[in-house]
Amino acid sequence: MPAPVPVPTDQLHFAMPPKHDTPEEERRHRKERLAAALRLFGRFGFEEGVAGHITARDPEFTDHFWVNPFGMSFKHITVSDLILVNHKGQVVEGRYHVNQAAFAIHSQIHRARPDVVAAAHSHSTYGRALSALGELLEPITQDVCAFYEDHALFDDYTGVVVDEEEGRRIATALGPHKAVVLRNHGLLTVGDTVDAAAWWFITMERSCQVQLAAKAAGKPVLIDQAGARHTRGQLGNDLAAWINYQPLYQQITRSEPELLG
Ligand SMILES: [Zn+2]
Repeated sequence: MPAPVPVPTDQLHFAMPPKHDTPEEERRHRKERLAAALRLFGRFGFEEGVAGHITARDPEFTDHFWVNPFGMSFKHITVSDLILVNHKGQVVEGRYHVNQAAFAIHSQIHRARPDVVAAAHSHSTYGRALSALGELLEPITQDVCAFYEDHALFDDYTGVVVDEEEGRRIATALGPHKAVVLRNHGLLTVGDTVDAAAWWFITMERSCQVQLAAKAAGKPVLIDQAGARHTRGQLGNDLAAWINYQPLYQQITRSEPELLG
C-alpha cells in the first residue's frame, strides 16, 4: 500500500440542512422531520397520556402549523397522520382533532417568534422534576452550556393551558431564548428547524437529569461565566443543534421507515 495521503476535505461528506426550491418540497420535508421527531420522543419515553406536542410552521401559510393529532401515540405517527391547524385553532387538513393545549401554547409561540419554525413540548420526566423545583439549568457540563443565559423560567402555574392569553404569557416568558421551563409543568424548546427544536428538547431533558443527579450526589463545580458563554457560542446555535440531531434522525428513519408514509 502506498503511504497514506490526506483526502481533500471537499471530498469528505458533511451533511448540512437542505434547501428547497418550492413550498411543496419544504412542506414535505418539514412533515417528514416532524413525524421522525415525534417517533423519537416516543422512543425516549416523553409521552404522558395525551400530553405533548411538536409543531412545525407551514412554509407557505405561515400562521398555520403542522402538529401531531390529539390522542395518538408518538410511537405510531406517520407523515400522513399530521394535521394542519390555522390561527383560529381549526383543523384545515387531516382527520383528527388538535390538542387544545397545543394550539393555545404553540400558536402564541409561533406568532411571537417569526424566526421559530418548530416548537416542542412534552411532560418528560426530568424536565418535569426540574420544573417542580422552579429552577433553571446551571452551567455544570459542556452540553448544558448551550442553554447558558438562553433559557427562561415561566414562574407561574394556573392549570392546563387552554386559552390563548396563557399561551401569550408563556411566549413572553420565552422571549428571544431557545427554551423555557414551565414551572410545575415541563419543558418547551424552539428552533429554526424541526430538528433543532427536537434536539434542544432531547438534550435539555438529559441536562435536567444530569443536574438533578449531580446535585443529589454532591456540589457540582460551576463553569465560570466566560467559559460558559464561550461554550454556548460553540454549541448553542440552531445549526449546531441540527448537526447534533442527525444521528438520531438516521436511527429512527432506518429502524422505522414507515413513519415517512
Ligand atoms: Zn403540557
